[in-house]
Amino acid sequence: MRPLDGSVALVTGASRGIGAAVAVELARLGAHCVITARTQGGLEETDDAIRAVGGTATLLPFDLEKDAEIDKLGPSIVQRFGRLDVLVHAAGVLAKLTPVAHIMPNDWKEAVGVNLTACWRLIRTCDPPLRAAPAGRAVLLTDSVAAAPGAFWGLYGFGKAGQQHLAQSWAAEVAHTPLRVNLADPGPVATNLRANAMPGEDAALLRRPADVAPGIAALCLAGETRQGQVVRVALAH
Ligand code: NAP
Repeated sequence: MRPLDGSVALVTGASRGIGAAVAVELARLGAHCVITARTQGGLEETDDAIRAVGGTATLLPFDLEKDAEIDKLGPSIVQRFGRLDVLVHAAGVLAKLTPVAHIMPNDWKEAVGVNLTACWRLIRTCDPPLRAAPAGRAVLLTDSVAAAPGAFWGLYGFGKAGQQHLAQSWAAEVAHTPLRVNLADPGPVATNLRANAMPGEDAALLRRPADVAPGIAALCLAGETRQGQVVRVALAH
């Protein structure tokens, strides 16, 4: 028996980077993974990796800026699976590193849409199926910049701070239920997002998505008791 055998996990941002690696890890632990992102090809690559570890996936390509698509998620998961055991919200955008006074309307719209509004709508639509699971687990990816604002990081950081606030409020609201909601801070990881933020950095010196995926997946197991915590993800050994 694997720890997540028979369970259903929804992973956003699963076309590449940390979300893709977490989906593969959850599948390796036995979960059927519903994987979402915009890029069909990336989802197919994640699906291949999931099959390679003996897992199964449902591919759900859609744009998190399309509110109505998010709202359909919870009801369709209930209809197909009856419950949702695990939610990992890894989708996110850097938008642009820029002085606050120089933020342009389109960059603001994308940052609010993906990093904040989508998070609220995802919580709203996934709360009922997560509560229907015997030990629902939700993990939202955060960043240390949420608690440490710095020059040029405002556009990305305010979304992460808002997401953290929403998640911790949600955690307090469901504290009396079996549902556990936590945030995972992976630290610097070699992904597209990091490369865009730090173009001169040697990615070979950073953790890879597969290094942090087991620590994030561990927060999704039934034995997890933390609630509303920001968990700094430890390296896999
Ligand atoms: P990444 O490689 O750039 O992946 C981002 C994911 O988000 C992709 O799968 C992307 O898929 C998806 N996404 C972006 N916009 C979307 C949209 N409009 N609709 C649907 N999906 C969308 O980034 P990552 O580094 O793995 O980041 C994962 C999470 O970790 C983020 O929340 C990030 O803030 C957090 N984090 C990362 C680091 C780091 O150093 N990498 C550090 C701290 C926290 P499509 O483009 O295919 O839609």
